[in-house]
Amino acid sequence: KSSTKTTRTVMMPKASTTEQEQAGETFEYQAEVNRLMDLIVNSLYSNKDVFLRELISNASDACDKLRFRSVQEPEILNGQSVTDLSIKVRGQESDKTLTIEDNGIGMSKDELVANLGTIANSGTSKVMEMLKQQNEAASGENLIGKFGVGFYSSFLVADTVKVTSKSNDDGKAWTWESKIDSTSYTIREASESEAKDLVRGTRITLKLKDECEEYATDKKLSSLVKTYSEFITFPIEVFSTIQ
Ligand code: ADP
Ligand code: MG
Repeated sequence: KSSTKTTRTVMMPKASTTEQEQAGETFEYQAEVNRLMDLIVNSLYSNKDVFLRELISNASDACDKLRFRSVQEPEILNGQSVTDLSIKVRGQESDKTLTIEDNGIGMSKDELVANLGTIANSGTSKVMEMLKQQNEAASGENLIGKFGVGFYSSFLVADTVKVTSKSNDDGKAWTWESKIDSTSYTIREASESEAKDLVRGTRITLKLKDECEEYATDKKLSSLVKTYSEFITFPIEVFSTIQ
């Protein structure tokens, strides 16, 4: 029996800017998260700047956690040094996006669900509890100012929020994504471009609302970062691109 050997070579189209993204898994927010987001949007609309304080403080916390753990487990630095820990803020004016990136501890898929789908932190739960008792939105701004509202304040300035994160715990990069007014979010494996150069840590991309496009400008970003960096012990770099 004679056999002919056929070799078939399939050329796959190269991933481009229209790179196919997986649909991912959809998760519903815990009910309190929806309430908190309404509250943030309704009581902080005149003080949108705070979102950057919250995202920078989260990035700094993430770097702190990594630095702390690296004392016992130096390998979690992936060859980097603690002096490499930093925060990068990038504005892109042409497409109205703002990226806040850190090379801190990162989040696994499970952590993305636990941290960005529920109200896990005690400060925010406290605000919610107090609001329930007083049941008056007018006091929301004061309470929020005192305790902070965290990550969800991103929706003060963004229509779409995308969080790509990579933790040594599962070693994979995941993308969490949600839109303003949505009661759900999706999680999927990050695409190559989303995870580009992300050794470990978290990259948050905000697609700015039209009326918030100034948050991509160097002028706005530099002045806000100057204010909010006062108590941050990691370097914060600001980049801004016009086109
Ligand atoms: P808080 O910072 O008060 O806990 P947030 O709403 O700001 O509340 O953040 C919720 C949680 O999400 C944090 O506790 C943290 O576990 C996680 N998180 C947010 N941003 C980051 C980040 N850049 N890196 C790692 N984890 C993060
Ligand atoms: Mg926070």
